[in-house]
Amino acid sequence: MRCDHCSNDVPDGVFCTRCGAHQGTTEEFGDAKKREHRYAAHPGEHVATASIFTTLFPHLGHHKVHEFRWAFIAGLAGIMVLYLAGLITAAILVSAFLVPVLYLIYLYEAQVYRDEPATVLGFTIGGGLIVGIVITVVTQTFYQPYGGGVNPFASASVNIGALLLVGITFPIVQEVIKPLPAYFLPNRKDFPETVDGLVFGVASGLGFSLAETLISYSSVITGLPAHVTPGPWIYQLITISVLSPLLQGSCTGMIVATIWRQGLGKFNVREILAIAMAVLAHIAFATGSQIMKDTGDNPLAILIWQAVVDGALLIYIRYLLHHSLLEEAAHMGFSETVCPNCHMHIHASGFCPNCGVALTASPNSLKRNRRVRKAVPSETA
Ligand SMILES: [Zn+2]
Ligand SMILES: [Zn+2]
Repeated sequence: MRCDHCSNDVPDGVFCTRCGAHQGTTEEFGDAKKREHRYAAHPGEHVATASIFTTLFPHLGHHKVHEFRWAFIAGLAGIMVLYLAGLITAAILVSAFLVPVLYLIYLYEAQVYRDEPATVLGFTIGGGLIVGIVITVVTQTFYQPYGGGVNPFASASVNIGALLLVGITFPIVQEVIKPLPAYFLPNRKDFPETVDGLVFGVASGLGFSLAETLISYSSVITGLPAHVTPGPWIYQLITISVLSPLLQGSCTGMIVATIWRQGLGKFNVREILAIAMAVLAHIAFATGSQIMKDTGDNPLAILIWQAVVDGALLIYIRYLLHHSLLEEAAHMGFSETVCPNCHMHIHASGFCPNCGVALTASPNSLKRNRRVRKAVPSETA
């Protein structure tokens, strides 16, 4: 079969294995080449879906995503139980660790770091942790969000000085410094694909998030009696366990992904917008939360605002990754393999001809098998 979009001869299938284009002839789904109804890392979903796991954990196949989702829900349920029991200190600690620990398991599961776990983990999660400690300690000398009091919803008017600092300066400083550990990863050349950059950035952002939460809440963690009335802590806990790590991970993931794109010589409008989007989203998240906190708005409104910002970030990440995968996956050579997404035996290059998943986003064990098989015939030839 000859692909209408890249003119290569490819095996029969719903998708072209070289360029990933949808081979359907109907106009129903819009542009077949861009195929935005079939997200390249998870073809069951549209690109514009605000899903946490298929976006920030792009190497997971169908079943694994399901497992991670349940682990996450179980973690949230555990936090809820601790909260209802009045064990706020314990609930804060579990919230701070939940997403970073899940991510560590994901990195192990997908073997994203290949043969160099120590270097990669050190320069991503480890680097993020160190940066998080340094930045949070330094920024706390300027502004102490929860200093002394245990009720963060106390003040009544907007403090402009604090707003400029917390809402604008801190987010910009953080977004400039958080990607640095991944930027200085010494063996970056071994991980050329944008999907690797994204994952390293998310890992680094989550390391940062963990350090930031532990330090910001240190006075609460050490000062609060073991058992207190649950009260308004539930809102804080949702931010600490879900919304704040999502923000930190997504922003850095997106910025590091653009660094990887730049390394591939593909730094265009989409990448510039990604950086702008990350910085603006972080500012919007911090400014909005701070204003609503100061004016004593319903804490639920703060959570909704934070969730909206996170959702928008997730969708932009998918947009960036989708197009990166379509652009970068074309040069892998044909091999027999099993699709990590639809589990069919396929003869494929860059994309599964059956479901259209980009094989660059498959777990590394699969990629390794594939390389071996490809290398054998060329050695004997
Ligand atoms: Zn094609
Ligand atoms: Zn497939």
